[in-house]
Amino acid sequence: MNPRTPPAAPLLLVLALALLGSGCTGGVEGTPGAVGLRDPYFPGLGNGGYDVTHYGLKLDVDPAAGQLRGTATITARATQHLSAFHLDLAGLDVDSATVEGKPAAVNRAGKELTIRPDASVDDRMREGRTFTTVVRYSGSPQAITDADGEKEGWLRTADGAVALGEPTGSMAWFPGNHHPSDKAAYDIEVTVPDPLTAVSNGQLVARRTENDRTAYHWRTTEPMASYLATVAVGRFTTEQARTPDGIRLFTAVDPESAAASKDVLAEIPAVLAWSQDRFGPYPFTSAGAIVERTGDSTYALETQNRPVFPGPPDTGLLVHELAHQWFGNSVTPKTWRDMWLNEGFATYAEWLWAADHDDVPVEESFDEAYDDDANWAFPPAAPPAALDLSDPPVYGRGAMVVHKIRLAMDDDKAFFALVRGWTKKYRHANASTGDFTAYVEEETGQDLTGLWDAWLYGGSRPPREG
Ligand SMILES: [Zn+2]
Repeated sequence: MNPRTPPAAPLLLVLALALLGSGCTGGVEGTPGAVGLRDPYFPGLGNGGYDVTHYGLKLDVDPAAGQLRGTATITARATQHLSAFHLDLAGLDVDSATVEGKPAAVNRAGKELTIRPDASVDDRMREGRTFTTVVRYSGSPQAITDADGEKEGWLRTADGAVALGEPTGSMAWFPGNHHPSDKAAYDIEVTVPDPLTAVSNGQLVARRTENDRTAYHWRTTEPMASYLATVAVGRFTTEQARTPDGIRLFTAVDPESAAASKDVLAEIPAVLAWSQDRFGPYPFTSAGAIVERTGDSTYALETQNRPVFPGPPDTGLLVHELAHQWFGNSVTPKTWRDMWLNEGFATYAEWLWAADHDDVPVEESFDEAYDDDANWAFPPAAPPAALDLSDPPVYGRGAMVVHKIRLAMDDDKAFFALVRGWTKKYRHANASTGDFTAYVEEETGQDLTGLWDAWLYGGSRPPREG
């Protein structure tokens, strides 16, 4: 989804691009789509003027050489009459691009790829129409170093590679509208040399071997934000099953992590059933996990349908990443400022699990978070900068906000109904902090201004009982 109106670009830039556009294409009436969606932390991320409905990615991966050859077929609906539009892409060489089958002009500037359709397809670029862009690209995909020093993007591993996209990494391996507000369906087909396996999101719909190389075709029909797309290439032990209520499970485990992962991965059906009781119906048709060899990556990520773990996870981490399938993956932040809605709920899920299974009352988890100074560095709904997005307040203090709502309601049954209503109302959509506070106040009939001011937005630690 792409609910925002395209932000105004600086006037001179608009004029320059418009003149350039009409000059090159012989009098098109459209205007260029905006460069970036003005996310509070990543203003250049994403692009205006269109809404992607489907990505068809065909990737040929040569892990030994660290090379990738790709074709991205992007189906999008124009939200304005476009004379040109942008895609986000970091590194890699663009070999060619077409729009509606006609060669398009391509320009690269940093992470912005500008596509200018041929004048003959101008009619297809009008507001509301759907157009198809094909970008052929190749090169050596790279890791992107986050503001906080973590690596994301395309990460080389001991026996292959893994793609991790939060918050901006997916532009390292495919061109797209890389902002969480534009969710789309995906077909990701990855060809790798035998005996390696390529695992991605959704369901494996086809597998074809030719000349010692196998193509794995994965399909995601439910909307997915691009930061949740993944590809893992390596030696994997894979297993398929179904939960009692029909969710398809696919797990892929590096053989070196297999023994230590066996018991915790066997808990996936039970964790999903427990989560559905609390958070509502599982929002996707497939689930599972990708477990790398310890050291292949440094953090877990809730990639859609099957989270990536950097080695055998413990149950708490499994609960956290599976909770993200509801909080983050189905109900997705409108901007990166809303990330506490992902992490606060996923952390709270850990607290709930510990209360139900490990005799740790939620109050004890709350107190531990409250007493930890790291959770008070800044308010969860207003991290000072991009490098703070994955810091403790977004997680621990976010979970404290959720618990304070529960206490304000003083009715557990009503609280969990509120949570299930939230995941239902914004299922497969995007939500902001403002959407959340408005929803809670409307559903509870309470004015919670004091709670938001103290726990969500406040600069200092409020009294424990405040
Ligand atoms: Zn998380």
